[in-house]
Amino acid sequence: MAELGRQDGDKTASGGERSAHSLSYGLHAGTTRVTVERSVHAPREARRFVQVEICPEHAWRALSAVRLAASEFATQAALLGDGPLEVGLRCDLTSVTTWVVFPTSVPVFGAPLAPADDMAVRVIEAISRDWGAQSLRDAQRMWCTIPTGFRPLPETSDSRS
Ligand SMILES: [Zn+2]
Repeated sequence: MAELGRQDGDKTASGGERSAHSLSYGLHAGTTRVTVERSVHAPREARRFVQVEICPEHAWRALSAVRLAASEFATQAALLGDGPLEVGLRCDLTSVTTWVVFPTSVPVFGAPLAPADDMAVRVIEAISRDWGAQSLRDAQRMWCTIPTGFRPLPETSDSRS
């Protein structure tokens, strides 16, 4: 849990390396993705990816939920897919989206893919703001969006003096 300490690191921001851009989003990590081999280890790899790559400025508050969702999706992808899976993460400040894309040799037209078992669906529904599954050309994508609890400060023209 040492990462949490980084959130309060204002005093250390004196280095000359910081650009104007990084003043607003110093630690913000936008979109990251990783490719994971299809195996029984895929869920663990997905959890590790989330743990390491989750945005340390906003999305870290939702870490447990995001890790759970990515793990659940990777489990389904390892069961249903037939090739390496892509695990992705995108921080939108107030929400974080995680997804898994995996190749399928049998295209599923029309019906959206659902996570294979009811408990997985319940878990995803319980922790996410929105979720879904899409059929791509030769692949399937499962995704969900989870609130981070981050609220941007309102714009003010003068700070307290
Ligand atoms: Zn962020």
